[in-house]
Amino acid sequence: MSSKKRITLRDTLSIGGGEPISVQTMTNTKTEDTAGTIQQIESAVQAGCDIIRVSCPSREAAVSLGEIIRNTTIPVIADIHFDYRLAMMAIENGAHCIRINPANIDESGIRKIVDAAKDTGCAIRIGINSGSIERSILQKYKEPNADAMVESAVVNANKLEDLGFENFKISVKSSDVRESVRAYRKLAQLVDYPLHIGITEAGPVFPGSIKSAIGIGALLMDGVGDTIRVSLTGDILDEIRVGRQILKSLGMLKDSINIVSCPTCSRTLIDVVAISNELEAMAEDLRIPLKISVLGCVVNGPGEAMTADIGIFGFQEEYAKIIVRGVEYGTFHQNKVIEEVKKIIESFYM
Ligand code: SF4
Repeated sequence: MSSKKRITLRDTLSIGGGEPISVQTMTNTKTEDTAGTIQQIESAVQAGCDIIRVSCPSREAAVSLGEIIRNTTIPVIADIHFDYRLAMMAIENGAHCIRINPANIDESGIRKIVDAAKDTGCAIRIGINSGSIERSILQKYKEPNADAMVESAVVNANKLEDLGFENFKISVKSSDVRESVRAYRKLAQLVDYPLHIGITEAGPVFPGSIKSAIGIGALLMDGVGDTIRVSLTGDILDEIRVGRQILKSLGMLKDSINIVSCPTCSRTLIDVVAISNELEAMAEDLRIPLKISVLGCVVNGPGEAMTADIGIFGFQEEYAKIIVRGVEYGTFHQNKVIEEVKKIIESFYM
């Protein structure tokens, strides 16, 4: 049940309405550092990022944004708070989408942003965050919970609709996993607009990845969510790796290698850990749909191998049998397995 409405980011990427789910991250360079920001976006693109968000806190940043957009191959969302004039500059400079928290901008500013977005095809994200809900709504709910976020989202979605604008997506993020999931589930019942989902301020890489996988995963399994961001304190490339892995785990990322490997035990005959790690490193750079299984012995190895494109399992001490799409390919010393896998992949795609 992803959103029924489809929006477009200035005729580049479409979101919602059954389009593939996009992985998003945000630069953490100073936007005024044009070259550094372009370089970081390029690394993000290489890692599989579909949409990039860039803060636009000053006039200098808004000017730099134009140069950044001209040198970037994916849609750019300008993140705006408080000053509608920065949003106008960002739209003028080519931003594909503007992220605003409407509670931070007055109505005449919102009207001007909407008019500029209409004229250019720029999209808008209504970004509701539990930390910045309108005072009037907070007074009603006493705390920034899921219900308060959803009410804020619906009120602001109605405002944009009243201005004749529908090219927007919505987020309702909290750092609390349960409240985030509750908010998105409720919102998905009330609106048809695309939803950008994530757990905000999820924390350092390890705990933040788990929180995000639980929250984003639960929603995606409900059919809720059109773009995702894993929000981590760390390298932005980790956000993309984890985001892509969440999609991959749910079979929602078609151009990726899914590695199935066992935890090893005393029956293990081959170096499953080394082989799996090498395959995982290899898979980072390949955008192809493939399932590879690596198991340590014949207990489950042959069975998993029959469901994989390439199945590898320990057959005798240090030797692995490789099965390719159900047909035996050969038995190899464990040190030769990766070499053979590369040859097999080449034979599939060359
Ligand atoms: S597949 Fe074999 S080696 Fe791996 S954990 Fe299971 S029993 Fe152990």
